[in-house]
Amino acid sequence: MVQAIDLIIKIFGNNGIELIGSLLLATTIGLFYTKSNIKWGLKYLSFAFYALVFKNLILMGFHLYEVLNPGYQVPVPLYDWIDFSFICIASALFLASALSMLHLLFSPLPFAIITSGLLIGSGYLVSTTPKTTDLFTILPNIYIASAFLIIGLSLIMMQKAQKNALRAIGLGFTLLGLYYIQSVFHLSGDTWFYQATIYLIVLVLSLSTQISLMKVYCTTLENNLLAEKARRDLILDASPFPILITRLIDDSVLYINPVAVKLFNLEEFEITTFKFSDYFADPVKRVELLSRIKRETVIHSFEVQMKNPKTMEAIWFDLSTRIIDLDGELALYTTFKDMTETKQKEEELFTQASTDPLTGLFNRRQFELMANTQVSLAKRHKTSYCILMLDIDHFKKVNDTYGHDAGDEVLKYIALVLKTSLRESDILARYGGEEFILFLPHTSPTEGWHVAERLRTSVEQSSIFSNEKTLNVTISLGLSNSLDGNLSLVIKEADTALYESKTTGRNKTTLYTPNMKDYHKPQTDDTPQSTEQNPTE
Ligand code: GH3
Ligand code: MG
Ligand code: MG
Repeated sequence: MVQAIDLIIKIFGNNGIELIGSLLLATTIGLFYTKSNIKWGLKYLSFAFYALVFKNLILMGFHLYEVLNPGYQVPVPLYDWIDFSFICIASALFLASALSMLHLLFSPLPFAIITSGLLIGSGYLVSTTPKTTDLFTILPNIYIASAFLIIGLSLIMMQKAQKNALRAIGLGFTLLGLYYIQSVFHLSGDTWFYQATIYLIVLVLSLSTQISLMKVYCTTLENNLLAEKARRDLILDASPFPILITRLIDDSVLYINPVAVKLFNLEEFEITTFKFSDYFADPVKRVELLSRIKRETVIHSFEVQMKNPKTMEAIWFDLSTRIIDLDGELALYTTFKDMTETKQKEEELFTQASTDPLTGLFNRRQFELMANTQVSLAKRHKTSYCILMLDIDHFKKVNDTYGHDAGDEVLKYIALVLKTSLRESDILARYGGEEFILFLPHTSPTEGWHVAERLRTSVEQSSIFSNEKTLNVTISLGLSNSLDGNLSLVIKEADTALYESKTTGRNKTTLYTPNMKDYHKPQTDDTPQSTEQNPTE
């Protein structure tokens, strides 16, 4: 038993305590280095302790080898030089670290390499000079003691936010330095128990720094988080686009940037009063947006009519929205691009392309588009519809007698009469020069006939004032009814019926019947007859 303890002491001895102490300090400082914002010097301080760890590992290896091979002794010079070299390296690293902490050194690594070389070289000089050979045995202790004292005092003097955390560890190093100094003079005897006590004190001190480090680390994290939030708010506040951040689960507003506040003309207290849903003109669109965002998480362009929640004024927007994690909550980050102008332009273009500028009625192209949709519906639901064609009688005469402007007034007036006497579902268009066309959905021939006659008498009974003159005009109408016929055919039939009205007296309505002769436009005498015309017709 005593033998075993002796053996352990032989292998472990002073080296073991220094090894454990150094390893703990190296890792503690390494941790401090990675977690704190003090970078200067701490890395090299940790390296210095690792150098001591290596030294002690090698020396303990020698002891073990000697125990395993009784009778063998590691040559003393080899032992001493390894011990000395590592102490020189560690001392140089301690010095580099201390100077870095005091901001006196900007390239610690080359400094540490050169200093290590110088220290080892000085040791060689001391050991080979006969007068100073004895000095060589205490040189390592002098070096390491000086290094500990320098680093300890540097840490105590450090002017950093975490200085209190480092002061304790600085005090520990100063104690270590004092210990090695006294061991030079063999004041207390070089017992491993004494060394262990000193290292223990250093460890307690370094552990206390760990605790304050953690506090510092938490404060740093909190500050970083606050700074991050401040930065985020700054970016959002400075955005030229309106931004709205709303909580996903209840639509409440978490953030609205100044541009959006101005856009919706909100007062400070109103910001949180309104929910995201209050901004949608059409609630169905909101549901559509939400169901899409849940599938896609990001939507880059979503055209939607929003409204000012206060004034209810409608605004067209192109929304971009995405799901974000805002301080641990799922939120919708939405930016708006005002589309009102674009939409107005679109509407203008649509109006230009679909209506007749003189009367404001749909043009022929738009009529055909809309009527075709209605025909498909009529076919599907098996409902009958009517086409009514109407043409102003002797309109040429109006132009010739009263002038083109008066003719235009008549066209506008008739358009107004037609517009005001029809149902919303009817489609009315200016089909040609002075020809109008009407699509009457869900209409039987009898109903169509009544509509036509009502229009005819309205026009007949109206007096149109133009240039201080009173004009009276009449219209002729052709009516055709269909259940499933194609549109162009029904239009042709209405046209045939209109021709019938024209040729049989004008100012009348004619309902198309299949026995009606397929009509050809009346030919003026100077218009050549088509040669391809069937002579039997
Ligand atoms: P009918 O009873 O047979 O229909 O005789 P009409 O004179 O009305 O027939 P016609 O088709 O020969 O003449 C149509 C005239 O309508 C010719 C054209 O100058 C005139 N017109 C067409 N578009 C406009 C327009 O936008 N403004 C004016 N003022 N006149 C137009
Ligand atoms: Mg005419
Ligand atoms: Mg005509």
